[in-house]
Amino acid sequence: MYDIIVIGAGISGISFAQKMAPYAKIILIDENEEIPIKTNIFPEHNRPYLDVVSMDDSTIFPRDHIKTLYLGKEESGVINSEEFGDPLGKIVYTDKLLKHLINDFKEKGGKVKFNEMVKRVNRSSEKVEVHTTIGETYSGKVLILATGSRGFEIQKALGFDIPDSYLGIYTHLYGSEAQIDENFDFDYMFHINPNISKNGPFFFNVGEERVLTGYLGNSDESESEIVDKLDRILNNYPYIQSNVTNLKWDRAEFITGRISKHPIDRFSHDRVLVLGEAAGLVTAFFYEGLLSGLVSADAAVRTLRPLFEQGSSFPSSELSAYDKEIKRILLNKYYNNGDACEYVFYDNSPSAIKKIWETYIDLVNDNQKLRRQIWEAYRMYDVENYDTSRDKWAGEKLFEKLPTLSKISLGPKFLKALMKF
Ligand SMILES: Cc1cc2nc3c(=O)[nH]c(=O)nc-3n(C[C@H](O)[C@H](O)[C@H](O)COP(=O)(O)OP(=O)(O)OC[C@H]3O[C@@H](n4cnc5c(N)ncnc54)[C@H](O)[C@@H]3O)c2cc1C
Repeated sequence: MYDIIVIGAGISGISFAQKMAPYAKIILIDENEEIPIKTNIFPEHNRPYLDVVSMDDSTIFPRDHIKTLYLGKEESGVINSEEFGDPLGKIVYTDKLLKHLINDFKEKGGKVKFNEMVKRVNRSSEKVEVHTTIGETYSGKVLILATGSRGFEIQKALGFDIPDSYLGIYTHLYGSEAQIDENFDFDYMFHINPNISKNGPFFFNVGEERVLTGYLGNSDESESEIVDKLDRILNNYPYIQSNVTNLKWDRAEFITGRISKHPIDRFSHDRVLVLGEAAGLVTAFFYEGLLSGLVSADAAVRTLRPLFEQGSSFPSSELSAYDKEIKRILLNKYYNNGDACEYVFYDNSPSAIKKIWETYIDLVNDNQKLRRQIWEAYRMYDVENYDTSRDKWAGEKLFEKLPTLSKISLGPKFLKALMKF
């Protein structure tokens, strides 16, 4: 009998298992054969949630995130941290980060099972029982669901809601370090074009010898359509051709999958907690999910440690402390920004999306106060104290800068968005 069974070896499940390992007997199960390669942006505000990994380890964090580019068709917006001081954060080789955390988990006595898919969970008043596709059964006192956007059936069967999820696609581009330096004068690019996706960005996350690219947020295209579209973008989209010159990619390695957002209402039921993306804990505009994975893992550890010490039977009434922490740290303030931006930028007609994006780029370039606010948001260590009045101010400035005709048509929308703060 384990104390805790964790399903899902992503940032949420692994960072939870690694932090909780000194206090409980844990098994971590994942259907993947191994951890997939990923290159992500890792804002400075994630730092407080790492304990056994240093953000100065360049094998895991290959470069500083100094410059963000908001790509536009005529002009692009630039946030350059050098204008204000330290970098916005790091670029992370997420697979290497996760492997490091798994090794630490194992050193602390944790057990890991890859290549095993959980197909069913039984819960009684005494325990949870997890059945896998290779015929194994594991019993535990508590279950952690950290299944991202791939475990919705189990989630539903245990009484949880499931978040909204959208189709996304990504792949790595490979080249020499020198070629990548030549092609990119930024570390992260974010681009909105409703012809690519109506509900998410096209992006580049730039590592040393590999670059992650793709787009998120599709709801009305099939997998084969988004594969064809990414291929067309990489081969023909004029605004990024200088970035992909002499880099290699393989269409057969394009990865499609769902990505969730819009947090569900409850994150705990008897003996079960749901963490990270499975709970819809991804910001609705930028699709930032690593912070929420780390925060939810940390909050789950802080909830469970005293309960194990007290010999709890883990009823939802005691586990609900976890829900309160997620709301306090992430949802009460930090997530408002994504909700309002999503409402203004994505949930709109294609021509309005284009106009708002162009105007936002102008605003970023013209307004140093806004650039500083963005820099500070990347770097603040206490996201629970995120100042939403700044977003309100930015929204008002954006509205002021719109052409008169757009002001008339978009006025009600902006008003509603600003009321979210
Ligand atoms: C293309 C892309 C780029 C992104 N870029 C960034 C970024 O730069 N910065 C950022 O902060 N966020 C980014 N995000 C979001 C972020 O990566 C995710 O929200 C976050 O990694 C989710 O972590 P997780 O641990 O909650 O879930 P996941 O990483 O999805 O892990 C869930 C795991 O559960 C396993 N699993 C599911 N069901 C079962 C089952 N039944 N049995 C066994 N195993 C199961 C899966 O195999 C998977 O390994 C990006 C997302 C995408 C798609």
